[in-house]
Amino acid sequence: MPELPEVETMVRGLLSRVKGKQITDLWADEKKLIHHPSFRLFKESLIGQQITNIERRGKIIIFHLQPKGFWLAHPKMTGHFLFLESKPDDDFIKEKSVHLSLSFSDKTFLAWSDQRKFSRLEYWSVDDIAQIPWLRQLGLEPLKMSFAEFNQLIEGRRQRIKSWLMDQRFIVGVGNIYASEVLWLAQVNPERPAGDLSSNERKKIFQGLQKMFKKAIIKKGTSLLEYRDIEDQKGEYANYLQVYGRKGQPCPRCQGEIVRKMIGSRSTYYCPQCQP
Ligand SMILES: [Zn+2]
Repeated sequence: MPELPEVETMVRGLLSRVKGKQITDLWADEKKLIHHPSFRLFKESLIGQQITNIERRGKIIIFHLQPKGFWLAHPKMTGHFLFLESKPDDDFIKEKSVHLSLSFSDKTFLAWSDQRKFSRLEYWSVDDIAQIPWLRQLGLEPLKMSFAEFNQLIEGRRQRIKSWLMDQRFIVGVGNIYASEVLWLAQVNPERPAGDLSSNERKKIFQGLQKMFKKAIIKKGTSLLEYRDIEDQKGEYANYLQVYGRKGQPCPRCQGEIVRKMIGSRSTYYCPQCQP
């Protein structure tokens, strides 16, 4: 599932490729991906608009449209954009699991690929992003927050730290892969109650998260399964993962055996020896 570095990579690609473009047509074959408003209104609302900016909020991509409103794309499991110089044909649509395609006035195209079909696409006819109700429930951006803010959010929380890190109401953008990785970096057991962590442990997690995300953005994210950037290229951060997906392998730090455990119904990887 795309997390902060993957979505940030998508946004940077979109800024360089589709910012300023005029939407002239929209094709879609999967109505269930359109969550707001109706399928018909979504299509009608996008056609004729210009994309004036693209930004990321947590794991969500937000297109600013002119004259009105915002288009939101939430990749969930496998959603990602592909920028195309020519119109996607039937073979391409099938091979790349394309479920939506935009045509631009300069004869370029933007396709939305989503193999698992859990992604959410929405259009909101509002003047300000702040008027979109569920965006208001999102927590702070990890690369734009201070340790004091992090500390305040974690204080008194009884959730297990792994689940807390992934709870988008506190910090946004952390998913299953990077949560396991940052806890390994900080040498913290994923099942410990978040609020019980020492100041030093909290600092290690906070700083580790920022450092890891910055590096992962430079490497254009982690492509374990479906994720690709908008040029259909894999990210390289999978080469830097220390524990995720490495059950039974030796820990790179202490040579203990990496285990996989379900925490909050999500696969969690850690080293019980150096993350006691
Ligand atoms: Zn270890």
